[in-house]
Amino acid sequence: MLGNDAAETSKIEVWWDMKDCPIPEGYDARPVRPSIERAFNKLGYSTCPVSITAYGDQNQTPCHVLRGLSSTGVAVVHTISESTRSVMHRDMVEWRGQNPPPATILIISDQVEGDFSWDLARLQQRTRYHLFLAYSSKPCNDLFLLRYANWRWEKLLEEEGGTPPLVATGGLSSAAVFYCKSCNFNCQSLKTVRKHLSSYKHGLEDAINSPDSRLLCVTKTWAKNYPATPEHATAKMHVLWDMNDSPIPEGYDACRVRPSIERAFKELGYTGVLHSRMITNFEEWAEDNPAPATVMIISDRLGWRMSQSSLLQKSNYNCLLAYSVRPFVKPTLLTSAEWLWESLLAVEVKWLLHLPVCFIAICATVIAKAWMISRSISQEKNIHMRYASSPLSLSVNI
Ligand SMILES: [Zn+2]
Repeated sequence: MLGNDAAETSKIEVWWDMKDCPIPEGYDARPVRPSIERAFNKLGYSTCPVSITAYGDQNQTPCHVLRGLSSTGVAVVHTISESTRSVMHRDMVEWRGQNPPPATILIISDQVEGDFSWDLARLQQRTRYHLFLAYSSKPCNDLFLLRYANWRWEKLLEEEGGTPPLVATGGLSSAAVFYCKSCNFNCQSLKTVRKHLSSYKHGLEDAINSPDSRLLCVTKTWAKNYPATPEHATAKMHVLWDMNDSPIPEGYDACRVRPSIERAFKELGYTGVLHSRMITNFEEWAEDNPAPATVMIISDRLGWRMSQSSLLQKSNYNCLLAYSVRPFVKPTLLTSAEWLWESLLAVEVKWLLHLPVCFIAICATVIAKAWMISRSISQEKNIHMRYASSPLSLSVNI
């Protein structure tokens, strides 16, 4: 049991690359579902419905395997092998849009590492699911991707148990069992899908209209400087400032730092109480400051930013970033706003408006008093000059 988390009693969605992680020779396809369910049961996911979708070139899949999968409620998707990874990723992104957390996802593939895991890590910072991986020969070693387990596929299939069910127990989203991505075709009959896959029309579509094999990283185009969400708008805000690599630029007044940051926050709709301190340890800070909270990080170091992305994948922190030099590579850390440190400090005169009211009042009083003193000196001078030039005054003085 991983803990008392709502995801442990919510649905589980599985995307399975049949080419990377095939059913071992001589192995019956029917125990695939119960093996996966049993692995989750051992971790405390006891009452969760499990949806499984298997991807691959189904022209290569024996009939008895297709029959075994469909009889246990595993949806089967046909796509050319080159497109399997991108199709799985696209379907996962679409599913996430339609199924808000809590839920659990399992990706069975040898090709999660790289841009897939980069995009997934950023997606997980926006919407958090319990993430599990399984691999056959090439585990995902991207450390920035937070997962609850990284199973070996063959080991997963060794999970022992009772007789597999013959009908779907998990929530298939549609009555269809077989899908063809090239033709946008679906059906429930093994005989029908076999006939379709061997047809001339399908062969033509597979050749000229198969899904794009390039993986589209959806988070790459996410905009910057999002307005504050209602949840984070009034939450506490912290600024963690690494002064070593992001010092105050030469010629800037240190007094401008706080009002500049406050102005940037306010422009995005944040109204919570602002705390700031020198950066020490992000994890320690998180222990003392549970989510939801907004944290602004002022630093140029990509390394520790990547490790922070793991923290954001499990807790609802909102991250803003300022740096002296714009990073060459897109960081794994997902931010809702970013600034160049110098640009953020280069505030206009209106920053005065954000100074404390008492400070402005004191300044106004000082200026007023100075004006009054100056005026009285001037008046005295005038009087003195007038009397000094008057004949009467001369006579009097004499
Ligand atoms: Zn087709």
